[in-house]
Amino acid sequence: MRTILVTGGAGFLGSHLCKLLLEHNGNKVICLDNFFTGKIDNLRDLESNPNFKIVSHDITDPLIGKISEHVDEIYNLACPASPIHYQFDPIETIKSNTVGVVNVLEFARVNGAKILQASTSEIYGDPEVHPQVESYNGNVNTLGPRACYDEGKRVAETLFMDYHRKYNLDIRIVRIFNTYGTNMARDDGRVVSNFIIQALNNKPITIYGDGNQTRSFCYVSDLVEGLYLTMTSGEIMPINLGNPDEFTIKDLAEKVIEITGSSSEIVYRELPIDDPKQRQPDIGRAKTVLNWSPKVNLNDGLKITIPYFDN
Ligand code: NAD
Ligand code: UDP
Repeated sequence: MRTILVTGGAGFLGSHLCKLLLEHNGNKVICLDNFFTGKIDNLRDLESNPNFKIVSHDITDPLIGKISEHVDEIYNLACPASPIHYQFDPIETIKSNTVGVVNVLEFARVNGAKILQASTSEIYGDPEVHPQVESYNGNVNTLGPRACYDEGKRVAETLFMDYHRKYNLDIRIVRIFNTYGTNMARDDGRVVSNFIIQALNNKPITIYGDGNQTRSFCYVSDLVEGLYLTMTSGEIMPINLGNPDEFTIKDLAEKVIEITGSSSEIVYRELPIDDPKQRQPDIGRAKTVLNWSPKVNLNDGLKITIPYFDN
């Protein structure tokens, strides 16, 4: 039986990942979370599974001594991902990505565990190369309000590589592009959940800036399958995971209004500082190394996500 630790397992992606890992026979899953943005409700279906355990803990404190089981694999997802949440306490965010990452890496080292880091497209910043390929080094403002997250995630990648070089730790790095779906919190604050909730309530849809900035939206089931395949691959170098279908934020607003049949009007609000103008993953490496590409398009993903928020 393999024992797998998922940090941030009560969050949006983490809860889907815990479920997928438990569906594979022979896995024991430990979810470790500080419940900052994660919710116990996301784990209700898993709680009674004898192979599932929840540990309440913050990764900025050492993990060694906190988990008694020997662990074979670790997925490190512990970090708030929505701009409003990671900017709520920026020092805690950067600490999770630095001090916290060292704690998780040390725990991997003493266990001899394979470890995957949930990195992000944000390490490319406001990209000057489009679509973003893994060899692009990015364009991040070290001083802006997004830096606690963007620079934190860049340091985390560096720490992973250094643990690999120094201790031969078996690492994986996944750069996740905008992902949406069920188990996102109502107060998540990211664009897909905001627009859906606004549309369902016939309230104004808030576009930040002129709405011509682009994002590429991946449905959660595709993403967690990519995480699992990455862990089982032998690839040490970073892999982009995301859906390459690119949309303007205005396109997204119109799609959500159409599918919900909402009477919402669109209103325009100030663009946040350092908001990236365009984003689209080059998924060539994921296709070659993992034989992975997303299966759920935006229309179909929205048609699953909208009823979730409606309930
Ligand atoms: P989320 O906010 O729903 O989940 C994050 C989880 O980590 C929550 O359960 C939270 O309580 C927990 N957490 C935060 N700080 C912690 C700490 N110090 N110690 C222990 N637990 C802590 O976000 P998500 O969308 O599920 O993102 C999960 C991971 O994937 C994050 O690392 C994020 O950076 C990365 N990611 C997500 C996306 C996306 O589009 N969803 C894109 C890029 C990267
Ligand atoms: N956005 C928006 N309205 C909202 C929330 C977000 O127009 O209610 C915009 C935001 O400015 C950004 C894009 O949607 O250009 C994606 O934002 P999100 O916070 O989901 O993710 P990220 O900026 O991290 O890609």
